[in-house]
Amino acid sequence: MQLRELVASIDGILEPWRFKDYAPNGLQVEGRAEVRKVVAGVTASQALIDEAVARQADAILVHHGYFWKGEDACLTGIKRRRVKSLLEHGISLLAYHLPLDAHPELGNNATLARRLGWVASGQTGEQGLLWHGSLPAPQDAGQLRKHISDRLGREALLLGREGKPVSRVAWCSGGAQGFFAEAIGLGVDAFITGEVSEQNYHMALECDVAFIAAGHHATERYGVQALGAEVANINGINVEFVDLANPV
Ligand SMILES: [Zn+2]
Repeated sequence: MQLRELVASIDGILEPWRFKDYAPNGLQVEGRAEVRKVVAGVTASQALIDEAVARQADAILVHHGYFWKGEDACLTGIKRRRVKSLLEHGISLLAYHLPLDAHPELGNNATLARRLGWVASGQTGEQGLLWHGSLPAPQDAGQLRKHISDRLGREALLLGREGKPVSRVAWCSGGAQGFFAEAIGLGVDAFITGEVSEQNYHMALECDVAFIAAGHHATERYGVQALGAEVANINGINVEFVDLANPV
């Protein structure tokens, strides 16, 4: 298919124009006009680009692309090497950040909830990024931490009481530790995100709400897979997901 048709197809699914984001959504680097194979991944690292080159992909689809607000805009250092690799091999880079977190079916928060067996009841907060719902059956916070670790294949960190009973939860994939106070305001028993900050510890203890840091990469690897599968299904092209481990 043509690259512009692919971009239009994904834009139609994720509607990036509805979001105020920290990076451009959609086509970030333009490669060859014809797309037969797409490699999907969480982050457009050099390792992912090298994998895309080895697999003879025409485009890369990611959650974390380039050109973030506040970063140096110049094409120097690792950014030069990455963009050079893409352009030399005619590989396009398509990146979708917040639209892929928020999408009600294919997004990181929706797919994370499905993976963990949670029942979503709503989306609130900044651009609908804070999700809330309930566990299929009450657990204590220690059991919930273990369940998350098992399902995501990575040890999660629990702040707060192990024995805290949990039935209502709020979550936001990635680096959303700043949403903890807002989650507490929703009256939930536990908040789950990817990353953690020092102050989350005190807030968890003093409010008696469990905080679970399950990994930025580990909580954001399902959205781009679901999107890739949908794109392959709709357009009849080959989309291969490549999971490159990241301990954070
Ligand atoms: Zn992220």
